[in-house]
Amino acid sequence: MSTAASTAQRLLRPDLREFGGYRSARSSQASGQVWLNANESAQASSADPGGGLRRYPDPQPAALREALARLYAVAPAQVLATRGSDEGIDLLLRAFCAPGQGAIVTAPPVFGMYAVCARLHGARVVEVPAEDTDAGWRSDLDAMAQAALAAAASLVFVCAPGNPTGEALEPAALAALAARLEGRALVVVDGAYAEYADAAAGADLLAAHDNLVLLRTLSKAHALAAARIGAVLASREIVGLLQRCQAPYPLAQPAVAAALAALQPAALAATAARVAQARAERARLAAALAALPAVRRVYPSQGNFLLVRCAQAQAAYDALLAAGIVVRDMRADPRLADALRISLGTPAENDAVIAALAALRRAA
Ligand SMILES: *Cc1c(COP(=O)(O)O)cnc(C)c1O
Repeated sequence: MSTAASTAQRLLRPDLREFGGYRSARSSQASGQVWLNANESAQASSADPGGGLRRYPDPQPAALREALARLYAVAPAQVLATRGSDEGIDLLLRAFCAPGQGAIVTAPPVFGMYAVCARLHGARVVEVPAEDTDAGWRSDLDAMAQAALAAAASLVFVCAPGNPTGEALEPAALAALAARLEGRALVVVDGAYAEYADAAAGADLLAAHDNLVLLRTLSKAHALAAARIGAVLASREIVGLLQRCQAPYPLAQPAVAAALAALQPAALAATAARVAQARAERARLAAALAALPAVRRVYPSQGNFLLVRCAQAQAAYDALLAAGIVVRDMRADPRLADALRISLGTPAENDAVIAALAALRRAA
């Protein structure tokens, strides 16, 4: 048995050791022509003349798992398809944090779902704030590892690239973090924006670190946010443990069909072209905004958004809104009290952002 296997076993909630999860009608391997085992309707809905929606869907369609495995260069058994990567975060909490006792480590400012899922689960959130440096935001992976060990946290969430910070994280540094916490904690690398980054943690790291978990999603670069399809990439053992905690039929059949279409070669080529354009727009918008008096600072970004500090954030927000442009107001976080997060739009939409902020005068 590898050390890694024992990491997951050691961290699994003791009360779930013998837990098999729900046995759905779909999980039995029977074969037949007349399916009367799941209390489905015998006839199709008038809303679904083809009858494609009459049956419960496959919990983990093999074609989807295989397509995701090809996309991310892992084995199908290392993929758990999820209802968005948000579900992956929730499953990790449920499987590896004892309710009311467990702890996770995060590096704020960061994506809010880690803390939301922890809170709903009664797990403690140990925050190791990222540092705002001249080169951009920097998560302190060393301090995160120390905090995880001190708090006996079972999960360390690293958002790479960082949202909302745009931070770049070196795959080698993530690998070192995983090595340091082997046997002690799972390192969860959320790669929701990995496609937009210069370098991203990938399958090669998974092979070397069985306590590493990668989260990926079709919501951003693949432009399928409404389909709610994400993936957990991890050891077979972790994938199996998470699957036992998952809902019986997490993936709606139309969403699976959309995902399979998006993973065809022509669609993947179109995705690559969109990502290339977004990266070019990111550089263009960052340079244009940085030159405006209304803008104090544009952080370097590896995502499909820019984090921008403004001379007068309220005025900037209002000017954008008056132009019909809605951006993310970050000011609830005291460290981002003058900041907006602006998603990259089409070139024309980005021009409109520049024009709206260019019309603002700098604060005295
Ligand atoms: C958008 C986002 C997600 C959510 O992904 P879904 O697959 O749509 O649930 C996860 N992590 C980060 C950091 C995000 O910004």
